[in-house]
Amino acid sequence: MADLQVFDMDGTLLLDPRTPTASLAVAREAGCWEEVELLEGLLAAGRMTHSAFAAVARVFWEHLTPPMVDQAFDRCRWLQGIEEVVADIHAHDGVAAVITMAPDFFAERLADAFGFDYVAATPYPTLPFEAPVNLSTAPDPEDKERIVRQLKDHFGIDGRTVAWGDGPSDAFMFRAADWSVALNPRKELPTAPDLLYEGTDLREPYRHVRAMLRDQATQAA
Ligand SMILES: [Mg+2]
Repeated sequence: MADLQVFDMDGTLLLDPRTPTASLAVAREAGCWEEVELLEGLLAAGRMTHSAFAAVARVFWEHLTPPMVDQAFDRCRWLQGIEEVVADIHAHDGVAAVITMAPDFFAERLADAFGFDYVAATPYPTLPFEAPVNLSTAPDPEDKERIVRQLKDHFGIDGRTVAWGDGPSDAFMFRAADWSVALNPRKELPTAPDLLYEGTDLREPYRHVRAMLRDQATQAA
């Protein structure tokens, strides 16, 4: 029986106190740290929408190039063991996906770097930017729930979906999943997760998740 495992990125897979979000990692390379930090603050306080963030960040990132994004990605600190966990999900015929509000030009690198099957992120124009951000395609955190349901339908997975996240916006993902795992949550989550992990090695909570899925399959047999 296959399973679907969906991961948030910022604060979940990307666990770096120097650059807590992908946008800040990119901003460091682009020389606009203070500006993007200000935008992140407005976003976190609910004073800016994700589509407005994308439109304004695109202006600060006007001279951003793919090699600068590569550099930003390579300098980030990630949870340990991501590649092994994704390989084990595949060994069990499962699907590993990332659903993030971060820019697609950064998040899509997760597929090559760690083997994820699917990455959903905020769409930006092709780098270097010439076109404006398409505001109608910028997702909101509420969309995380819809995307999980679409992935379940697409891959025909029923009753074996695990969502991994760290913040209140991931509660939308948790709603559409059968199990929820909170990794290093910074704030209290709206609902208690099935599993809570504080640490830096994804393989540790994954062992528990794999055992949970095995038990469920045994009970169903
Ligand atoms: Mg997060």
